[in-house]
Amino acid sequence: MDRRTDEPDSVRLTFDLPDRGAVLVTNGHQWPAEPLHGDRIRYRSVVSNPINLYNITFNIGHYESFKLPYCDPNGVDRSLEFHMLEGGVEQAKAYFVEAQTMMRGFEALFGPFAFWRDGYKVVETPYWGMEHQSCVAYGNKFTRNQYGFDFILVHESAHEWWGNAVSACRPHDLWIHEGLATWSESRLLEWRYPDSLLYIDYMMGLRDRIQNQQAVAAKSGTHKRHLDTDIYYKAAWMWHSLRHSLPSKARFDEVLQQFYQQYIYKNLDTRALTDFWCKQLGGPYEGFFNHYLRKKHLPILVCDKIGVDSAGVHTLKVRYKRVSKEFHMGIDLGDGVISPHRRINTIVQVRGDLERMSDDLKRKYLIEVQLKNHPQ
Ligand SMILES: [Zn+2]
Repeated sequence: MDRRTDEPDSVRLTFDLPDRGAVLVTNGHQWPAEPLHGDRIRYRSVVSNPINLYNITFNIGHYESFKLPYCDPNGVDRSLEFHMLEGGVEQAKAYFVEAQTMMRGFEALFGPFAFWRDGYKVVETPYWGMEHQSCVAYGNKFTRNQYGFDFILVHESAHEWWGNAVSACRPHDLWIHEGLATWSESRLLEWRYPDSLLYIDYMMGLRDRIQNQQAVAAKSGTHKRHLDTDIYYKAAWMWHSLRHSLPSKARFDEVLQQFYQQYIYKNLDTRALTDFWCKQLGGPYEGFFNHYLRKKHLPILVCDKIGVDSAGVHTLKVRYKRVSKEFHMGIDLGDGVISPHRRINTIVQVRGDLERMSDDLKRKYLIEVQLKNHPQ
């Protein structure tokens, strides 16, 4: 079955290879090598969960292995398994303690890891990384970024939730995998350092990479091949914006977990995703998803200054421009979430510097802000 619309619910893998001292590491639960006739050995494994075929992999090398203990949120003892190329194992034992924290974070944020029956495994590879289910490829040479985490470990492991457990149906739905896996990097920072600015700082770095050259999701029925990096960064920013547009972030986090539970071990398309979120949020969010996924340009929030009092409180007329009339995204101008419309002006009072207000809006929402009647 060489397509993404469905997945085999389990896979058995068998490999026969010459016995030259090399070790094979593959997906799923793996048995020790069995000797065969004529200087050959056999490896067998079974993947006991649905798996996208592109996730099936094997690695042959002089691997050294170790496990780190991990206690899941239900108090069940698990282990995280690492297979390192010769010479790297001592460094890896100390380095991958980070994986224990990461797993705790992802399970707290999104829900239980889906593949304990197959295990969580990291295998060192000559290439940078890949989200092979229960056999995450790692080739980042023990390098942490300026935020103190290993981008490849975190990004590829996040795909165990977004991509492997919850899977897209078609290539043009891949933004579901990449947007949520990319956003997971930031969410993990927020979870680890809730009182710091690391989350927003990281998000602003992602924002700088957004191109707005083509829609994030192609229209249903078309086979789009030339996806750009907006399926990572812009899609991550769509989720960030949606979370800020709700009166309660906790409500968003709850729906995200419900979404994971609903689609764990399943494949879905963009339409199913947006239908689910609109239903759970109980609001008119079709226009929001339609804009960020189907249009390439950003919404503009026009803020027209019509007065300021002696206490520095500005009166603004705000409205959205360059959106459809169905577009809806609540914004917080400092006094609770309001919902501007297209063309219809909403009158708001804003205290303080308007440039600062504009910068603050751009940290929370993927919009352009136009200040009118305001000296630049
Ligand atoms: Zn990815």
